[in-house]
Amino acid sequence: MKMPVIFSGHGSPMIALENNDITASMEAVGKNVISKYGKPKAILAISAHWYTRGTFTQSAEKPKQVYDMYGFPEDLYRVKYPVSGDKELTDKIKDVLGNLVTADDSWGIDHGIWTVLVHMFPNADIPVVQLSVDGTLTNRQCFEVGEKLSSLRDEGYIIFGSGNVVHNLRRVEWNNPDGTEMTHIFNDYIIDAVKNKDIDKVINYSDGPESSYSVPTPEHFLPIIYCLGASGGDGAAVFNNVCNLGSMAMTGFVWG
Ligand code: ZN
Repeated sequence: MKMPVIFSGHGSPMIALENNDITASMEAVGKNVISKYGKPKAILAISAHWYTRGTFTQSAEKPKQVYDMYGFPEDLYRVKYPVSGDKELTDKIKDVLGNLVTADDSWGIDHGIWTVLVHMFPNADIPVVQLSVDGTLTNRQCFEVGEKLSSLRDEGYIIFGSGNVVHNLRRVEWNNPDGTEMTHIFNDYIIDAVKNKDIDKVINYSDGPESSYSVPTPEHFLPIIYCLGASGGDGAAVFNNVCNLGSMAMTGFVWG
């Protein structure tokens, strides 16, 4: 059965330790996917936190977990998400992307991925292979990489992106449980575009309202574009339409 494409917001890494409406929705998405589609063979994960010059993927049998965040409580560094890699998926990624992609195991499963997957697929029994976000590609080319990956969905693999629709660390308001008006405006704009399959609007997000506030740097947004490419025109359901910390949107999408 053709597997879905999932994009999730991650926001603060503390989400890994939280139990709230946001994490409950992540958990529900994971449960729904398994009950509707069966257990995926593996997860092809695209993280905002593996932002590289060139496109890389992982081939390690046991990828290390990367604690790539600093200054958080000790408990967060004790969260374990001990997944396996999946050599077969690595090979298939190489097959569909050809010489665009290179295997590289200097990185591992980073907090963009494990802080969400501890809720979505808490048993850590589905292998994960990360693909980097390539900062040398145009937005359109990122979309095209997603399109190429789409066929893997027919072979039992979930494509999972993690980033944020709105992510502006410099403008974070730690005590604000909501988003600013600017955050809401851009978040609503992108949700509409995704729901209406208005691909150009998402690819050219910088033409959208309040985009320079919402997406000051591209790495947290680009995973959405990869996922949209992989969606192959499937309709999207929205989860966690929540803005918080002033300048964060936790919005997620499930296509298929
Ligand atoms: Zn992040």
